[in-house]
Amino acid sequence: MTKNLTQVLAQSISIIKEIPIPHALLIAICILIIWVTLDVSESINFRNALKHNAIHIQLKKNPSEELFPDELTWFSEQIKEGDNLSTVFDRIDISSADLVYIMSAAKDANLNQVLPGESLLFGISSNSLQEFHYIISKSEKYIFKRKNKSFLVSHKTRTPDKFFSYREGQIKSSFYLSAKDSHIPDNIIMELVEIFSWDIDFVYDIRSGDSFSILFEEKYIDGEKLSNGNVVAATFNLRGDEIIAIRYEKSDKSVGYYSPEGVNMKKAFVRAPLDLFRISSGFNLQRKHPIHKKIKAHRGVDYAAPTGTAVYASGDGRVMEAGFNKFNGNYVLIEHGSTYQTKYLHLNEIFVRRNQKVKQRQKIGTVGSTGYSTGPHLHYEFLVNGIHRNPRTVNLPKADPISETEIPAFKSTAKTVMRKLDLNKKKSNNVFSK
Ligand SMILES: [Zn+2]
Repeated sequence: MTKNLTQVLAQSISIIKEIPIPHALLIAICILIIWVTLDVSESINFRNALKHNAIHIQLKKNPSEELFPDELTWFSEQIKEGDNLSTVFDRIDISSADLVYIMSAAKDANLNQVLPGESLLFGISSNSLQEFHYIISKSEKYIFKRKNKSFLVSHKTRTPDKFFSYREGQIKSSFYLSAKDSHIPDNIIMELVEIFSWDIDFVYDIRSGDSFSILFEEKYIDGEKLSNGNVVAATFNLRGDEIIAIRYEKSDKSVGYYSPEGVNMKKAFVRAPLDLFRISSGFNLQRKHPIHKKIKAHRGVDYAAPTGTAVYASGDGRVMEAGFNKFNGNYVLIEHGSTYQTKYLHLNEIFVRRNQKVKQRQKIGTVGSTGYSTGPHLHYEFLVNGIHRNPRTVNLPKADPISETEIPAFKSTAKTVMRKLDLNKKKSNNVFSK
């Protein structure tokens, strides 16, 4: 086969070589004229579009998707920062009348707020827009088809395939860095921290050697990853103590994370009122504060952290005081019902006012070194009926557990999920032992 092809090629070349030069030139000119004429006649209709560098795209025919009609020429445009639909239509010279028709046909497609990353497809025939696709993501788009002077819109969605992904790791320096080492995506790390924030103080409770495991969903379309889904289950093993969280959607559609016994992970207070889990081991979190060390009774916890680190309200409540004095510096006092109070001292900035209602994990200020303090840190106090308690060990009031009637359904979900988690754990242990 290859030999034959080579022979044919060699023969053709020798024939071309034998054509006298003037003849060859003439043939070449003829070919050029034919090619230019064909090309220009075809592109005349779309010269406006081409002038603006619209990308002429190749569309794959996919039987499972709607076909892109062959008689249309297709152009694609990406939404850029600062674009709106009108600037894009201008850019490729589509008439503003068509824009108006499309806008008025849009219904629930929010064309007033197109976003960078989204894309638009224009199907053009005889210099007129016949079809317009507003592509929000791989799984969602709106298709506008011309009907006389207006457009008909249809909304297309595709359900992505969900796969379970398993990751595990051991804490070396900080949880954040160890989770990164285990290739857990950033938004999943954030979710994990939030799920466990009622049980784990990510500053003081996490030690090197502690371990974690997680099962989460990843969404795919046509074999390409679309996004991460939900955290399905996760565990933390803190020096032998295992904390397990399982995602469960109740019959009223509300979603929460529960222990295998059905106890809500959510509590009225998070353990630590600040976002410190990102800080690496380079920062000495256990450092004793030099001034407080000399004070006999230290009635709170000190979290050494860089100035500007966000400080959250540890529970829902109302701001009783937000101000400054020379000992506390900038400070906030929050009342949570009549039983509980929390205090946040030495803040750099305060974002709340007296009497303001605050939600759990709402940002109330940032870490600073104001008042009686020698370095940036948050001094956090927790009071029960006016008495100071250790915020790290005090029993926290629990949120609603799974109701009696739903316990059987929950238990069966929990069993399936835990089995999946355990199987993965065993599998990866086998890999390690090899
Ligand atoms: Zn202190």
